[in-house]
Amino acid sequence: MKTRDRLRIAMQKSGRLTEPALDLLNRCGLSFRQSRDKLFCFGEGEPVDLLLVRDDDIPGLIAQGVCDLGIVGRNVLSEYQLTDGREAEPLAEWRPLGFGRCRLSIAVPQEMAYEEVGQLAGRRIATSYPGLLREWLRTNGVDAGVVTLAGSVEIAPRLGTADAICDLVQSGGTLVANHLREADVLLESEAVLAGPQTLPVDERGDMIELLLKRLDGVMQVRE
Ligand code: ATP
Ligand code: ZN
Repeated sequence: MKTRDRLRIAMQKSGRLTEPALDLLNRCGLSFRQSRDKLFCFGEGEPVDLLLVRDDDIPGLIAQGVCDLGIVGRNVLSEYQLTDGREAEPLAEWRPLGFGRCRLSIAVPQEMAYEEVGQLAGRRIATSYPGLLREWLRTNGVDAGVVTLAGSVEIAPRLGTADAICDLVQSGGTLVANHLREADVLLESEAVLAGPQTLPVDERGDMIELLLKRLDGVMQVRE
């Protein structure tokens, strides 16, 4: 990989994390000129540019060295480490960022009894997070079927393709609308600053250290 002298940060192009991530970077003293295709944003003051992509692609882009850092949900980062990134060098969660908070939870039909995880044995659970779900089932010694769906996981029980779901929950409104209730929590998530375990030993590494210092200052003010 050709070395770059400018730092490149990957973030979500359009979604829940986009505005708060940009806002946070602005507070860290970074500003960007938005290019027309909006894939790449050139940094105006500091040598830091943005790559605007789907959140699911962010861990892979860091692992490949296309980007130095990424702003992504812990849920996406952890899922990557357990699936596509299994063989790769593990990525580090450099800082929790305090926005995009949600839980990855098991939800069951309102009328289904649920006291403990063992009751999921032999059931089918629909999810977009098969890595995290399988890991949690294995840790709890439960043998259940995992049905992987890319989206609209919450309608699986009504369609009869699953008995329960494992999905992101924030307020719980979507669950109620689909006659489901939150039964167990696998992961508490929020947006994080992700990167490689070891920082590059060049100007980019120095810039990351400066950015982390500014970030800590900004986060302290917010607390
Ligand atoms: P993309 O097009 O980038 O793939 P997406 O649909 O996967 O977008 P969003 O729905 O914008 O992504 O969610 C991005 C992140 O926001 C999630 O991965 C999660 O970390 C966080 N988040 C917070 N609350 C919720 C919620 N209620 N539902 C889904 N994600 C949430
Ligand atoms: Zn996504």
